[in-house]
This record gives sequence, structure tokens and C-alpha cells, in this order.
Amino acid sequence: MEAKSVPIVSNEAFIEIFQSMSEGLIMVDEAGKIVISNPVADQIFGYERNGLVGLTMEVLLPERFKGTHINFRKAFYADPSPRRMGTGRDLMAVHKEGKEFPVEISLSFTRYQNKLLVMAFISDISQRKKAQEALKKSEEQLILYATELEKKVQIRTEALNNMVGELEKEVQERKKAVEETRKALEKERELNDLKSKFVSLASHEFRTPLSTIMSSASLIGQYKEKGDFDKLDKHISRIKSSVGHLTNILNDFLSLGKLEEGKIDVQNEWVNLNHFFFEIEEDLRPTLKAGQVILLECQPEAPNVFTDIRILRNVILNLISNASKYSDNNKKIHVTCAHDENDVSISVIDEGIGIPESDIKHIFERFFRATNASNIQGTGLGLNIVKRYADLLGGTISFNSQYGIGSTFTITLPIQ
Ligand code: ADP
Repeated sequence: MEAKSVPIVSNEAFIEIFQSMSEGLIMVDEAGKIVISNPVADQIFGYERNGLVGLTMEVLLPERFKGTHINFRKAFYADPSPRRMGTGRDLMAVHKEGKEFPVEISLSFTRYQNKLLVMAFISDISQRKKAQEALKKSEEQLILYATELEKKVQIRTEALNNMVGELEKEVQERKKAVEETRKALEKERELNDLKSKFVSLASHEFRTPLSTIMSSASLIGQYKEKGDFDKLDKHISRIKSSVGHLTNILNDFLSLGKLEEGKIDVQNEWVNLNHFFFEIEEDLRPTLKAGQVILLECQPEAPNVFTDIRILRNVILNLISNASKYSDNNKKIHVTCAHDENDVSISVIDEGIGIPESDIKHIFERFFRATNASNIQGTGLGLNIVKRYADLLGGTISFNSQYGIGSTFTITLPIQ
């Protein structure tokens, strides 16, 4: 144990300042002995009043720093200057009871009675350190929390984005379903409209041929009794033509129904056009008006065409029937064909009533009938069907017509 010495400063004013300082202050002589300490310094290090005086100042340091400190102290004495100690690192001091605590120290020096005394101003910064550490900890926690939060936000955002994506998909699907239902309903409505329009049209169109059949049938009875076979034949052919007309109307309606429902599938095969026309002419000849003839003019040879023969037959029958229907007795109907290596064009040319200029643009519309056709029986369905059949065959239909002179309808088809 070091012997305690009496404080060397006794000036009252100095002592008062010294004692009232809020920092700890110790003064150390050249030998490293504490020559004076203020009450704050005593209290910081846990000593009774003046308990530090006479002790070597290294008692206030942790064991591990003592050696270097002695050197440091000697260097300071050799070249003293006021400064802070331990800049950039934590200084540790030792409490009387052995506990280490952080301190902040500023050094200065004075000369007293020719002796160099080093003054050390000491602050116990344990509280500040604790506060700093707590702050650092809470900052770290805050950063951790923020990182976690960011991660959570990211996960939630991803989940939300996925949900939004799913929702959008669902909305699109619903929209599509609604649109499909709307289209289906629209189609059904159109079909219903078509059916009801046809029913009213058919009941009107059926009346004439049915009454012709009725009257001819009853007249046949009378002429049979009288043995008037000419009249008998006339009425039989009237019945036939009326039945033919009824069949045409029904066929048109059936075709249209199938087209509307998309039930027609195209089955192509190689068709020899010469045979094809020959058969059609044979079929139609009995239905023509008196003196009408069909002239086939596929010269030199009509090509073979890879197409659906049933559909093509329907188209040509329709066009020739119209040519006959809208022409007078004794008129000629020409069927011509021309082809190059890709396409064949078949034209049906008549010398009939023609189509008024103002009606031309509507001619393929469903139920449309030209203004000059009102006295001739018809439904306005045939050309609409022909156009749609031509589309199905990958072809086109066109026409030109001169009012009062005649019409030419041409269907152009790919040969293969
Ligand atoms: P429909 O003959 O049953 O009335 P279409 O659809 O076949 O129905 O024809 C539509 C309309 O086009 C006819 O009502 C008629 O006015 C006109 N038309 C069609 N073909 C000819 C033709 N060869 N000559 C004159 N007019 C025609």
C-alpha cells in the first residue's frame, strides 16, 4: 500500500473551484503519484475523500494497460501539452472494487513549486456508453425490423400481385364467357327471327302452289271422266311444278338452317364438270318454261375440279332456276365455263328481266327481292345461300345485270 500524503494545494479559492467541478480531476507528479483529487474523482473511482492521494495513478488502470501507460506517462512528462487521451478508442478505468468502466480523459499540466504536475480531467461515461449501446441496439433492431418489414412487404406484394393476376385472368375468362353467351344468344335470336320470318313467308308462299295443286287435282278428276287427256297432262305438270316450287322453298330453308348452325362440312372430291352439267341439264329440263333451253358451252373441255359436288350442285341449280324463273318462255339460258391453271369460272347467263340498278347492292341479302320481282314467286333466300356456299367452297360469286335485258351470275372456284 502506498502512503497517503497531504494535499499540496491548500489555497481556499482553488479548493472551492476544484471541489465544485462536475468532472473528476486528479493531479499526478512526475513519479506518477496522485497528489490531489477532487471529490468527483474520488467518487468516480469509489474512494473515500482524498483516498486517491499518494497512490500511483496506474492503480486506476486495468492491469493490461499498466505497462504501456507508464511509458506513455513518461513521454508526456518529457513533452507535456494539453490534449485529450485515447482519441479514437475507448479508455477504461478501474473502480476501487475492481470493476472496469469507460472514461473520457483530457490531460493538461501545471508547474507548482518547480514541479511538473499533470492534471487529468476524468468523466465516467458509463451512462453515456450504455445509452449509446442501447441506441445502437435499438438502431440495429430497427434495421432488422425494417429489413423484416421490407421482406414481408415484398412477400405480400408478390402475393397481392399474384392475386391481382389471378383476378384479372378470371375477369378475362368471365368476360369471354359472357361474350360467348351473348354471341350464342344473339345467334339463337337471329335463328329464331329467321324461323319466324320463314314461317310467315312460307305460309304466304305455300298458299299459291297449294291452291294450284288443289284446283288442278280436282280438275284432273273432271277431265279424266271426260277423257280430255291434254288438259289432264297440263294439270299434272302444273301439280308437278307447284310441288317443285314447294320443294325449292323447303330446300332453301333447310340449307339456310344448316348454314346458320354451321352444320355443313365440305367434302371435296374430283368432279368432272362435263358430266356434272349434263346431269343438271337433264334434271332441270322438265322444270323450264315453255320453249326455254339450257345451252352448255364449256368448250373445249371443262376441267375436273376438286370440290364438294353437293354444294356446287345446289349453287348451279339455284342460279339456273333463277335464270329460268326470271326469264320468259322461249328464252335461252347459257351455261359457260372458263378456266386457267388455278381457277374455274362458271357463268349462268339469261335473257330475263334483269335487276334494277338501285337493287343491285342488296341482291345477296337474306330475304331481299328486287322491286321488279314482286309478281314472281320467291323467298329472297336463294342468292344468300349461293353466296355462303361459294364462301364454303373457297370461291367467289359475282354478277352483272341490265334491267330488262338479262343477267349473268358467275361463280369462280379454285380447281384444287
Ligand atoms: P328468290 O328468287 O327466291 O326471290 P333469290 O335469293 O334467288 O330469291 O334472288 C333474290 C332476288 O334477286 C330475286 O328476288 C330477284 O329479284 C333477283 N334475281 C335473282 N336472280 C335473278 C335473275 N337471274 N334475273 C333477275 N333477277 C334475279
